[in-house]
Amino acid sequence: MSSLDAFAAAKLAEMEARNLRRWLVETDRREEVRATRNGRELISFCCNDYLNLSQNARVKKAAINAIETYGTGSGASRLVTGNHPLFGILEARLAKLKQAEDCVIFGSGYLANLGIVPALVGPGDLILVDELSHSCLLMGTKLSGAEAHIFRHNDLGHLTDLLAAHRGHARHCLILTDGVFSMDGDLAPVHEMAVLAKAHDAWLMTDDAHGIGVVGEGRGSSFVGGVKADVPLQMGTLSKAIGSYGGYLCASKPVVDLIRTRARTLIYSTGLPPASVAAAIAALDVIEENPDYAALPVKKAALFTRALNLPAPESPIVPLVIGEAEATMKASALLEAEGYLVTGIRPPTVPAGTARLRFTFTAEHKDEDILRLAGLVRDRILPKRAAE
Ligand code: PMP
Repeated sequence: MSSLDAFAAAKLAEMEARNLRRWLVETDRREEVRATRNGRELISFCCNDYLNLSQNARVKKAAINAIETYGTGSGASRLVTGNHPLFGILEARLAKLKQAEDCVIFGSGYLANLGIVPALVGPGDLILVDELSHSCLLMGTKLSGAEAHIFRHNDLGHLTDLLAAHRGHARHCLILTDGVFSMDGDLAPVHEMAVLAKAHDAWLMTDDAHGIGVVGEGRGSSFVGGVKADVPLQMGTLSKAIGSYGGYLCASKPVVDLIRTRARTLIYSTGLPPASVAAAIAALDVIEENPDYAALPVKKAALFTRALNLPAPESPIVPLVIGEAEATMKASALLEAEGYLVTGIRPPTVPAGTARLRFTFTAEHKDEDILRLAGLVRDRILPKRAAE
């Protein structure tokens, strides 16, 4: 065995022993909420396609037309020859939706954060980041080389203390948080954070991957409550409620110009395929023409939480913390045997001891399926959880 293969095998064995080995399971999803796994048809409650737009006839047609017109790939970085005409259209649409001056699209949300954070701050600067922020914000932080401190989840007092302790000696300060937290479904207090950031001359950036299309009347977490929070850096993804693929940053014109010039994951990565961009434009058409549609996923989540006497959801994501990884995977298997796909989420994605079932709700889930699922959780999962 080569030293490379020996290393890979030993590392895998070590990860397996620590319950960290993962497998990719083939999932054939051809309809809105139905998926086939291991030969069985299941109703999926763990997909981020919150508005089911990846399966929408109009969105699919737009992607097909774009392929017919422009081909399947963009062929180069956007700075070379990959900047096909659809990019500018989508960027203008997103900027308008987010009430920002401008927008720049990246290859994915993950790439966006890896590119944006180091383009804005570096050594001599300060980053304050919520402890439950998505992996790509944390990796962007690491890549930047800025001094970084983690604040307790949604804890404005802790954030204030960190600003008081560290802001003074830093040139610039970036505050990073998810707008909607991907594993907990709660919202960041973006309005309060925006005020705090401004008072300390800090720049607030929200990762609204799970917000666009579903909260704040479809505009995202900055718009919850009806008044726009003053968030100068609104980042997000096109891969969830928008039903396509790609990431974006909405910001002022100088900031977007700087990102286009300086973000390495934009400059050195091939532009998105035209079909992905066209699909996102069509998805925004559907969302803007049907303002009530964006409210449906949270309404469906609320039907589930009401049936279980859980707190009202702030987003379409409802976590049910089980605790240990093994018990969580057993609960997931139990639901799968009953025809429901709800994946278990384990450390290191979530903190140790908080492994959970993560239910996500979409516009096209049927009420009777949601209520039957809630009944199964009430009768078969909650009693076991209480007993452990
Ligand atoms: N941020 C958050 C909060 C996410 O949940 C995700 C996707 N898991 C990303 C960023 C990455 O986005 P993308 O899938 O477009 O790379």
